[in-house]
Amino acid sequence: MSFVHLHCHTDYSLLDGACDIDQLMKIMVEQKMPSVAMTDHGNLFGAVKFYNAAKASGIHPVIGCEMYVAQQSHKTRSDTDRYNHLVLLCENQEGYRNLIDLVSTAYLEGFYYKPRVDLDLLAQHSKGLIAMSACLRGHIPETLLSDKHEDARRLAHTYSDIFGKDNFFLEIQDHHLEQDKRLTPELVRLSHETGLQLVATNDSHYLRKDDARAHEILLCIQTGKSFNDPNRMRWSTPDFYLKTRDEMMQLFGELEDSLDRTWEIAQRCQVTLKKVDNPFPKFDVPSQHTTDTYFEYVARQGFEKRRGRLEAMRAKGALKHDLAEYAERLDREIKMIQNMKFSGYFLIVWDFIRYAKHNGIPVGPGRGSAAGSLVSYAMAITDIDPLQYGLLFERFLNPERVSFPDVDVDFCMNRRGEVIQYVTEKYGREQVAQIITFNTLGARAAIKDVGRVLEMPFADVERLTKLVPGVLNISLEDAIKTEPGFNEAARKDARIDDVLKVALRLEGLSRNCSVHAAGVVISPLPLKTLVPLYKTNRDEIVTQFDMSGLEKLALLRQSRYATSVFAPPGVVAQRNIKICIRTIAQDSRENFTPA
Ligand SMILES: [Zn+2]
Ligand SMILES: [Zn+2]
Repeated sequence: MSFVHLHCHTDYSLLDGACDIDQLMKIMVEQKMPSVAMTDHGNLFGAVKFYNAAKASGIHPVIGCEMYVAQQSHKTRSDTDRYNHLVLLCENQEGYRNLIDLVSTAYLEGFYYKPRVDLDLLAQHSKGLIAMSACLRGHIPETLLSDKHEDARRLAHTYSDIFGKDNFFLEIQDHHLEQDKRLTPELVRLSHETGLQLVATNDSHYLRKDDARAHEILLCIQTGKSFNDPNRMRWSTPDFYLKTRDEMMQLFGELEDSLDRTWEIAQRCQVTLKKVDNPFPKFDVPSQHTTDTYFEYVARQGFEKRRGRLEAMRAKGALKHDLAEYAERLDREIKMIQNMKFSGYFLIVWDFIRYAKHNGIPVGPGRGSAAGSLVSYAMAITDIDPLQYGLLFERFLNPERVSFPDVDVDFCMNRRGEVIQYVTEKYGREQVAQIITFNTLGARAAIKDVGRVLEMPFADVERLTKLVPGVLNISLEDAIKTEPGFNEAARKDARIDDVLKVALRLEGLSRNCSVHAAGVVISPLPLKTLVPLYKTNRDEIVTQFDMSGLEKLALLRQSRYATSVFAPPGVVAQRNIKICIRTIAQDSRENFTPA
C-alpha cells in the first residue's frame, strides 16, 4: 500500500519550511505517492495554492495544520503557560470550516509568541477533524519523555474524547534522534493500552535529504544568526525531508500498519475548496425599493446630474454623440447589470466612493474596463464619459461570459484608511478585512541573506547582487543564465559558488507576510466562516489567503494589472496610488486618457 506524508511543512510555515509547493507536487508524482497533506505551523496561508497545485498534478490534497495548543488557556499571556504541537487534518467540509475557525481564533484571540488554541476551543470545533499527537513537542510525546506514562495516558483519553476514538492517532516518527528511539516503544505501549491507532509520519520541512543545510541556512536567515554561530538553532539530523515509502519501511518495518494507515487516513479526508455562492454583502436600500430598483434610481438620478454638462458640451458642438444615444445606452446597461445580478455590487461601490468624495478624500477618475460603463459614469464611480472616448461597455461586463465587474478605484494613499474604516463600520467588523500578501525571497535578497549567513564579505555580496540584471522579478536561475559574471565568480571562488547554490534553492520561497496595499474584502457572512484570518502586529485583520487565493474562491477578481484591483463580488477592493489624481482629472478631464 502507499505511504502518504501526513505531516508536511511548506514554505508557508514562513522561514521554517524550505518546501516550495510546486516542487513538492513534482516529488509526489516522481515517488508515485497518491496524496500529501499540508500541515504548516499555525496557519492555512497556503491552502488554496496547495489544493490547486495538488489537483493539477493528480495528487489528492489533505488540508491540515500543525497547531499550537496552550496548556492553560489560549487567552493567557503568561510564560508559565506552555504550548504544544498538535496536527489537525480536515476530514470533511465541516472539519475545514472548524479548522478555519480555529486558526483564525488562534491569531485573533490566542496570539502570544505563537497563534494558540486550547483544549476548550478544540472541543468546540472538533467535528470533521482528524488529529495526530505530533512531534516531540506534542503534549503526549512531551509527557512520555518526562517519564509520566500515567499522565500521558490520561491525555490520550482526553484527546480521543475530544476528537473521537477513530479520529485521534498516536503519531510515531523517527528522525534518528535519541528521543524518537525512546518514544516509539512508549507510544506503542500507549496504543495497546488505549486502543488508539498508530500512524507513522516524517516531520518534513524540506524536500530532499540534501536540502538539510539549505534549510538550516533558512533558519539562520529567520533568526538573524550566522551559520557558524555555535548558539544558532541546530537540527541535529538531516532527516526532516519527504522520505520514500522504502525509507519509512526501514524505520517502521515492524509497524507496517502504521504506514498503510497514512493512505487510509488520506482517503478519508475529502474536502473541496468551493467558490463562494453569493459573494455580495447585502446593501440596505430605502424601504420602497428593491436592490434593483434602487440601483436604477441612483443611476438615473446620477445621469440627470451629468446632463447639464453634456448639454453644455453639445451646445459647443463638442459632444460626439447625441443625448438620445446616451439615454439608450443607459437603459441597456441598467438592464444588463440587473439581469446579471450586479445591482448590489454597483450600489456598494457607489456608496463608498460617495463617502470618500463627501469627505474630501481624493478619488481617482477610474480606469480599467470600468471606464467603459455609462452607469459607472452616471453614478460617479468613474469620471470618464465612455461615449465621448469610444469605450465599450461589453469590455466591462459581458453577459456571454459571466464575469464579475471590474472596477479599479484609486484612493489617496494617506486617507484610504478612512474609507476602510467606513466600510468596516457599515458592513461590520466581522465582514471586512484587508488582504495578506506574501513576500518571497527574490534573487537579490536570496544572495544577500545567504551571503550574510555564510559570512561572505560584504563587498562580495554587493558585487554579486549588482550582477543581477535589472529585470522585474527575474529569477536567480535566469540571472545566472544571462549574466556570465556569476559563473566566472563561482569558478574563482568556492564560497561564491556555495552561496549561489544555496541561494538557488531558497529563492522564491515565501519569507514573510504583510498587508496588501490595494485591497479590502467585504463579505456577506462573517469572514471567519469563509476564509481564515490573520492579525498583524499592528492589529490589522487580514485574510490568510492572498489575492490569487481569494480570486479562486470568487471572493475577488483581479484585473489585468498585476498590482491593481478588481471586481470583487462580495468584495470591494481599492487601490491606492502615490499621487492623488483627482485634482488633475477634474480640471483637465479632456486631457486625461483613461487606461
Ligand atoms: Zn511539531
Ligand atoms: Zn511539524
